[in-house]
Amino acid sequence: MEEWQEGEVVENIKWTKNLASLKIKAKINLHQAGQFTRIGLNIKDELVTRSYSYASAPQDDLLEIIYVNVSNGTLSPKLHELKIGDKVYVMKQAIGYFTLDEIPDGKNLWMLATGTALGVFLAMLKTSLPWQRFEKIILIHSVRYSEELIYQDLIEELKQSHPDQLIYISAVTRFKVEGSYNNRITKGLLTREFENHTQIKIDEDSQFMICGNPEMIKETTEILKGFGLVKNRRAKPGNITVERYWV
Ligand code: NAP
Repeated sequence: MEEWQEGEVVENIKWTKNLASLKIKAKINLHQAGQFTRIGLNIKDELVTRSYSYASAPQDDLLEIIYVNVSNGTLSPKLHELKIGDKVYVMKQAIGYFTLDEIPDGKNLWMLATGTALGVFLAMLKTSLPWQRFEKIILIHSVRYSEELIYQDLIEELKQSHPDQLIYISAVTRFKVEGSYNNRITKGLLTREFENHTQIKIDEDSQFMICGNPEMIKETTEILKGFGLVKNRRAKPGNITVERYWV
Protein backbone atom coordinates (compact mmCIF):
# COMPACT_ATOMS: atom_id res chain seq x y z
CA MET A 1 0.00 0.00 0.00
CA GLU A 2 1.38 3.36 -1.01
CA GLU A 3 1.44 5.80 1.88
CA TRP A 4 1.56 9.48 0.99
CA GLN A 5 3.00 12.36 2.92
CA GLU A 6 2.44 16.03 2.26
CA GLY A 7 5.69 17.88 1.65
CA GLU A 8 6.57 21.52 1.16
CA VAL A 9 8.61 22.97 -1.70
CA VAL A 10 11.77 24.65 -0.44
CA GLU A 11 13.41 25.34 -3.79
CA ASN A 12 12.68 24.79 -7.48
CA ILE A 13 16.02 25.26 -9.23
CA LYS A 14 15.72 25.99 -12.96
CA TRP A 15 18.97 24.90 -14.58
CA THR A 16 17.74 25.43 -18.15
CA LYS A 17 14.34 26.17 -19.70
CA ASN A 18 13.16 22.62 -19.02
CA LEU A 19 15.66 21.00 -16.68
CA ALA A 20 15.11 21.58 -12.99
CA SER A 21 15.64 20.27 -9.47
CA LEU A 22 13.02 20.29 -6.77
CA LYS A 23 13.92 20.41 -3.08
CA ILE A 24 11.15 19.28 -0.75
CA LYS A 25 10.77 19.21 3.02
CA ALA A 26 8.81 16.11 3.99
CA LYS A 27 8.57 13.64 6.86
CA ILE A 28 9.47 10.49 4.96
CA ASN A 29 11.23 7.25 5.84
CA LEU A 30 14.96 7.00 5.35
CA HIS A 31 15.86 5.94 1.81
CA GLN A 32 18.96 4.29 0.41
CA ALA A 33 21.00 6.17 -2.18
CA GLY A 34 19.94 4.90 -5.62
CA GLN A 35 16.29 4.41 -4.71
CA PHE A 36 13.36 6.35 -6.11
CA THR A 37 10.12 7.77 -4.84
CA ARG A 38 6.87 9.02 -6.32
CA ILE A 39 5.91 12.66 -6.38
CA GLY A 40 2.31 13.73 -6.87
CA LEU A 41 -0.04 16.67 -7.23
CA ASN A 42 -3.78 16.96 -7.24
CA ILE A 43 -4.68 17.81 -10.82
CA LYS A 44 -8.37 18.15 -11.67
CA ASP A 45 -9.32 16.33 -8.46
CA GLU A 46 -7.05 13.42 -9.21
CA LEU A 47 -3.72 12.53 -7.63
CA VAL A 48 -1.26 12.39 -10.55
CA THR A 49 2.08 10.82 -9.63
CA ARG A 50 5.38 9.97 -11.33
CA SER A 51 8.55 8.21 -10.21
CA TYR A 52 11.69 10.19 -9.56
CA SER A 53 15.05 9.03 -8.24
CA TYR A 54 16.42 10.66 -5.14
CA ALA A 55 19.27 13.04 -5.96
CA SER A 56 19.58 13.68 -2.24
CA ALA A 57 21.55 11.40 0.05
CA PRO A 58 19.88 9.68 3.02
CA GLN A 59 21.53 12.10 5.44
CA ASP A 60 20.36 15.24 3.61
CA ASP A 61 17.66 17.32 5.30
CA LEU A 62 15.67 17.87 2.13
CA LEU A 63 14.43 15.43 -0.48
CA GLU A 64 15.78 16.41 -3.89
CA ILE A 65 14.83 15.22 -7.36
CA ILE A 66 15.88 16.26 -10.85
CA TYR A 67 13.14 16.51 -13.45
CA VAL A 68 12.58 17.43 -17.07
CA ASN A 69 9.63 19.66 -17.84
CA VAL A 70 8.03 17.65 -20.63
CA SER A 71 5.93 20.22 -22.52
CA ASN A 72 3.01 17.87 -23.25
CA GLY A 73 3.32 16.07 -19.92
CA THR A 74 0.66 16.06 -17.20
CA LEU A 75 2.69 16.37 -14.03
CA SER A 76 6.04 17.93 -14.94
CA PRO A 77 4.66 21.28 -16.25
CA LYS A 78 2.85 21.60 -12.90
CA LEU A 79 6.04 20.74 -10.99
CA HIS A 80 7.76 23.45 -13.01
CA GLU A 81 5.25 26.03 -11.74
CA LEU A 82 5.75 25.17 -8.06
CA LYS A 83 6.87 27.99 -5.78
CA ILE A 84 8.44 27.99 -2.33
CA GLY A 85 5.87 26.88 0.25
CA ASP A 86 3.66 25.01 -2.23
CA LYS A 87 2.54 21.52 -1.24
CA VAL A 88 3.35 18.27 -3.04
CA TYR A 89 2.67 14.66 -2.19
CA VAL A 90 5.62 12.35 -1.63
CA MET A 91 5.56 8.62 -1.15
CA LYS A 92 6.63 7.88 2.40
CA GLN A 93 8.66 4.78 1.59
CA ALA A 94 11.35 4.79 -1.09
CA ILE A 95 11.56 1.91 -3.56
CA GLY A 96 14.13 0.28 -5.84
CA TYR A 97 17.16 -1.96 -5.83
CA PHE A 98 19.65 0.16 -7.76
CA THR A 99 21.70 0.51 -4.62
CA LEU A 100 25.34 -0.11 -3.76
CA ASP A 101 24.56 -3.06 -1.52
CA GLU A 102 23.36 -4.92 -4.64
CA ILE A 103 26.76 -4.38 -6.31
CA PRO A 104 29.42 -7.07 -5.92
CA ASP A 105 32.89 -6.07 -4.78
CA GLY A 106 35.35 -4.85 -7.38
CA LYS A 107 38.27 -2.51 -7.87
CA ASN A 108 36.62 0.10 -10.08
CA LEU A 109 33.09 1.42 -10.09
CA TRP A 110 31.87 2.93 -13.35
CA MET A 111 28.77 5.11 -13.01
CA LEU A 112 27.21 5.84 -16.40
CA ALA A 113 24.40 8.40 -16.59
CA THR A 114 22.51 10.31 -19.24
CA GLY A 115 20.49 13.42 -18.48
CA THR A 116 18.65 13.54 -15.16
CA ALA A 117 19.97 10.10 -14.15
CA LEU A 118 23.04 11.87 -12.82
CA GLY A 119 21.03 12.34 -9.61
CA VAL A 120 21.10 8.70 -8.49
CA PHE A 121 24.88 8.71 -8.65
CA LEU A 122 25.22 12.02 -6.83
CA ALA A 123 23.08 10.57 -4.04
CA MET A 124 25.48 7.61 -3.78
CA LEU A 125 28.62 9.75 -4.01
CA LYS A 126 27.40 11.89 -1.12
CA THR A 127 27.53 8.80 1.12
CA SER A 128 30.71 7.15 2.40
CA LEU A 129 29.93 3.72 0.94
CA PRO A 130 31.36 3.93 -2.60
CA TRP A 131 34.59 5.55 -1.36
CA GLN A 132 35.10 2.76 1.16
CA ARG A 133 34.40 -0.03 -1.29
CA PHE A 134 36.11 0.98 -4.55
CA GLU A 135 39.61 2.14 -5.44
CA LYS A 136 38.50 4.23 -8.41
CA ILE A 137 35.12 5.66 -9.29
CA ILE A 138 34.50 6.83 -12.83
CA LEU A 139 31.44 9.05 -13.18
CA ILE A 140 30.43 9.63 -16.80
CA HIS A 141 27.55 12.02 -17.50
CA SER A 142 26.25 12.45 -21.02
CA VAL A 143 23.98 15.33 -22.04
CA ARG A 144 22.91 16.91 -25.29
CA TYR A 145 23.97 20.48 -24.44
CA SER A 146 26.64 21.88 -22.11
CA GLU A 147 24.13 23.81 -19.96
CA GLU A 148 22.73 20.42 -18.93
CA LEU A 149 26.01 19.61 -17.17
CA ILE A 150 24.44 20.39 -13.81
CA TYR A 151 25.70 20.11 -10.21
CA GLN A 152 29.19 21.19 -11.23
CA ASP A 153 29.89 22.70 -7.77
CA LEU A 154 29.04 19.45 -6.02
CA ILE A 155 31.09 17.42 -8.51
CA GLU A 156 34.05 19.77 -7.96
CA GLU A 157 33.71 19.31 -4.18
CA LEU A 158 33.65 15.53 -4.61
CA LYS A 159 36.73 15.68 -6.84
CA GLN A 160 38.54 17.76 -4.25
CA SER A 161 37.64 15.49 -1.36
CA HIS A 162 38.57 12.33 -3.31
CA PRO A 163 41.32 13.49 -5.70
CA ASP A 164 42.88 10.04 -6.20
CA GLN A 165 39.59 8.18 -6.42
CA LEU A 166 37.12 10.11 -8.55
CA ILE A 167 37.40 10.53 -12.31
CA TYR A 168 34.60 12.64 -13.80
CA ILE A 169 33.96 12.66 -17.53
CA SER A 170 31.32 14.90 -19.05
CA ALA A 171 30.07 14.08 -22.52
CA VAL A 172 28.26 16.74 -24.55
CA THR A 173 26.88 15.14 -27.68
CA ARG A 174 25.36 17.88 -29.80
CA PHE A 175 28.04 20.57 -29.67
CA LYS A 176 31.79 20.54 -29.33
CA VAL A 177 32.68 21.78 -25.85
CA GLU A 178 36.19 22.13 -24.53
CA GLY A 179 36.93 19.77 -21.66
CA SER A 180 34.06 17.42 -22.51
CA TYR A 181 33.97 14.26 -24.55
CA ASN A 182 32.10 15.00 -27.77
CA ASN A 183 30.30 11.73 -28.35
CA ARG A 184 27.95 9.22 -26.78
CA ILE A 185 28.92 6.99 -23.85
CA THR A 186 28.51 3.98 -26.14
CA LYS A 187 31.13 5.36 -28.54
CA GLY A 188 33.57 6.15 -25.71
CA LEU A 189 33.34 2.58 -24.49
CA LEU A 190 33.46 0.91 -27.89
CA THR A 191 36.48 2.88 -29.11
CA ARG A 192 38.19 2.28 -25.75
CA GLU A 193 38.64 6.07 -25.45
CA PHE A 194 37.37 6.02 -21.85
CA GLU A 195 39.86 3.29 -20.95
CA ASN A 196 42.69 5.25 -22.54
CA HIS A 197 41.64 8.47 -20.84
CA THR A 198 41.24 6.93 -17.38
CA GLN A 199 44.08 4.41 -17.75
CA ILE A 200 41.65 1.86 -16.34
CA LYS A 201 41.06 -1.36 -18.19
CA ILE A 202 37.52 -2.63 -18.36
CA ASP A 203 37.65 -6.17 -17.03
CA GLU A 204 36.17 -8.29 -14.25
CA ASP A 205 37.52 -5.85 -11.66
CA SER A 206 35.08 -3.25 -12.99
CA GLN A 207 31.55 -2.88 -11.74
CA PHE A 208 29.17 -0.92 -14.00
CA MET A 209 26.06 0.90 -12.83
CA ILE A 210 24.05 2.32 -15.72
CA CYS A 211 21.07 4.65 -15.51
CA GLY A 212 19.30 6.91 -17.97
CA ASN A 213 18.04 6.69 -21.54
CA PRO A 214 16.62 3.17 -22.09
CA GLU A 215 18.33 2.82 -25.49
CA MET A 216 21.66 3.85 -24.00
CA ILE A 217 21.21 1.22 -21.28
CA LYS A 218 20.42 -1.46 -23.85
CA GLU A 219 23.30 -0.58 -26.18
CA THR A 220 25.82 -0.12 -23.37
CA THR A 221 24.89 -3.47 -21.87
CA GLU A 222 25.51 -5.16 -25.23
CA ILE A 223 28.90 -3.45 -25.59
CA LEU A 224 29.95 -4.53 -22.10
CA LYS A 225 28.75 -8.07 -22.79
CA GLY A 226 30.99 -7.94 -25.85
CA PHE A 227 33.87 -7.14 -23.49
CA GLY A 228 33.10 -10.36 -21.62
CA LEU A 229 31.12 -8.88 -18.71
CA VAL A 230 27.78 -10.28 -17.59
CA LYS A 231 24.67 -8.82 -15.99
CA ASN A 232 24.55 -8.71 -12.23
CA ARG A 233 21.75 -10.74 -10.74
CA ARG A 234 21.09 -11.64 -7.15
CA ALA A 235 21.25 -15.33 -7.93
CA LYS A 236 24.29 -14.93 -10.18
CA PRO A 237 26.51 -11.90 -9.49
CA GLY A 238 28.03 -10.08 -12.45
CA ASN A 239 29.45 -6.71 -13.47
CA ILE A 240 26.56 -4.87 -15.14
CA THR A 241 23.74 -3.39 -13.04
CA VAL A 242 21.12 -1.25 -14.71
CA GLU A 243 18.19 0.89 -13.68
CA ARG A 244 15.25 0.99 -16.06
CA TYR A 245 14.75 4.68 -15.60
CA TRP A 246 12.08 5.91 -17.99
CA VAL A 247 10.44 4.49 -21.09
P1 NAP B 1 18.38 11.99 -23.96
O1 NAP B 1 17.82 12.12 -25.30
O2 NAP B 1 18.41 10.66 -23.36
O3 NAP B 1 19.87 12.63 -24.01
C1 NAP B 1 20.79 12.56 -22.96
C2 NAP B 1 22.10 12.00 -23.47
O4 NAP B 1 21.94 10.62 -23.78
C3 NAP B 1 22.56 12.69 -24.75
O5 NAP B 1 23.95 12.89 -24.64
C4 NAP B 1 22.22 11.66 -25.82
O6 NAP B 1 23.05 11.71 -26.97
C5 NAP B 1 22.48 10.37 -25.07
N1 NAP B 1 21.84 9.22 -25.72
C6 NAP B 1 20.58 9.14 -26.21
N2 NAP B 1 20.36 7.92 -26.74
C7 NAP B 1 21.50 7.21 -26.58
C8 NAP B 1 21.91 5.89 -26.93
N3 NAP B 1 21.08 5.04 -27.54
N4 NAP B 1 23.16 5.51 -26.62
C9 NAP B 1 24.01 6.36 -26.01
N5 NAP B 1 23.70 7.61 -25.66
C10 NAP B 1 22.45 8.05 -25.94
O7 NAP B 1 17.60 12.75 -22.88
P2 NAP B 1 17.48 14.22 -22.28
O8 NAP B 1 18.20 15.22 -23.15
O9 NAP B 1 17.90 14.11 -20.87
O10 NAP B 1 15.92 14.42 -22.37
C11 NAP B 1 15.28 14.35 -23.61
C12 NAP B 1 13.83 13.96 -23.45
O11 NAP B 1 13.73 12.75 -22.72
C13 NAP B 1 13.01 14.92 -22.66
O12 NAP B 1 12.46 15.94 -23.43
C14 NAP B 1 11.96 14.04 -22.04
O13 NAP B 1 10.86 13.90 -22.90
C15 NAP B 1 12.60 12.72 -21.93
N6 NAP B 1 12.92 12.42 -20.52
C16 NAP B 1 11.92 11.85 -19.77
C17 NAP B 1 12.17 11.53 -18.46
C18 NAP B 1 11.11 10.90 -17.64
O14 NAP B 1 11.30 10.66 -16.48
N7 NAP B 1 9.96 10.59 -18.23
C19 NAP B 1 13.43 11.77 -17.89
C20 NAP B 1 14.43 12.36 -18.68
C21 NAP B 1 14.13 12.67 -19.99
P3 NAP B 1 22.51 12.36 -28.38
O15 NAP B 1 22.53 13.83 -28.18
O16 NAP B 1 23.52 11.85 -29.36
O17 NAP B 1 21.13 11.82 -28.62
